[in-house]
Amino acid sequence: MIVGGGIAGLALAHNLRDFDPAVFDRRRFPGKKCTGIISRWTFTRLNVSKEYVDAEFKEIVMRYGNREIHFKVDLLRLNRERLERDLSREVKYYPITNAEVVSPKEILVRGERLDGTVIKATGWDGKGRKVNAIEMVYEPIDSDVITVILHEENVGGFSWLVPLPDKTLVGALGYGDVFRFVPKLDRRLIEVHGGPIPRCKMREAEGLAIGDVLCSVKTFTGGGIFSISRLIEPIRKSLEGDPRAYEEELRSLRKEINRQYRLVSLAERAWRTSLRLGFSLLDGKTLSVGEEFDLHSLLLGRLLH
Ligand SMILES: Cc1cc2nc3c(=O)[nH]c(=O)nc-3n(C[C@H](O)[C@H](O)[C@H](O)COP(=O)(O)OP(=O)(O)OC[C@H]3O[C@@H](n4cnc5c(N)ncnc54)[C@H](O)[C@@H]3O)c2cc1C
Repeated sequence: MIVGGGIAGLALAHNLRDFDPAVFDRRRFPGKKCTGIISRWTFTRLNVSKEYVDAEFKEIVMRYGNREIHFKVDLLRLNRERLERDLSREVKYYPITNAEVVSPKEILVRGERLDGTVIKATGWDGKGRKVNAIEMVYEPIDSDVITVILHEENVGGFSWLVPLPDKTLVGALGYGDVFRFVPKLDRRLIEVHGGPIPRCKMREAEGLAIGDVLCSVKTFTGGGIFSISRLIEPIRKSLEGDPRAYEEELRSLRKEINRQYRLVSLAERAWRTSLRLGFSLLDGKTLSVGEEFDLHSLLLGRLLH
């Protein structure tokens, strides 16, 4: 039984089809909107059809004032909204159904007790530190490069511009009101969405859990799909009777996310100095980024070499 039918619960259910899990979600409709930028590595581990890839990106340009650093990357834009809608039709999905987790072996649905292995995929509970994200959808522009903009006043945050074939996503995340950091685009505005993203250390959970409920998002970017993809296979192994793989993967994820958290907290404390130093060292350079896109804690070492 999977409680929560966001990307974590539905991608997991898709990969556990042979166990025929039931997915309970309290929302009326599946399909959350987000930027959807993930590495190819993460996409492979989600194990879903390529039809949900809207675009591929080989370059990110990171700007700070008139300085810029180029990153060679291998990224995809996942159309998670459509993916979640389609997956909800493929698995046993129960919308408008709140499920109370009583224990790792029992849930309460509309007053009825249901027994079985419970997997929590309930998303972030809103407690603890967070950043705010706002994203605007505009008409498409002619580009195939992701732009990331850092600003001295947006401490610990950044803005982005992601060109897609049918639209352009521009947004900003950070503490407080980040609206003023959203890049301006001379195109027709189609839609605005966004929301809070946890910025905390990873949490403990009783029993099996996956996704933002664990606060397993990459600290700086707020990307949560990476950790979700890493826990899918270990959860399968656990259901097959080998709990070690899940415990080990959790331990390794926790080490990485908590390290990211410490590095970001340090950078936030000396934000202006970090930006000035980083960009004066690397202005005009092109760096290749592989696993560092997900494992940010390796990025610092890479930048310094
Ligand atoms: C603007 C924005 C941009 C983002 N961009 C990216 C990106 O580019 N790349 C990336 O990797 N990540 C990105 N993220 C983060 C990503 O969206 C999250 O990591 C992801 O949504 C987490 O998925 P989840 O399934 O764990 O949680 P959620 O998507 O929050 O789903 C949890 C579900 O559980 C349900 N639920 C909760 N409690 C119960 C209950 N008791 N009973 C029944 N149902 C319940 C909720 O209704 C919800 O549908 C972005 C987030 C935002 C806000």
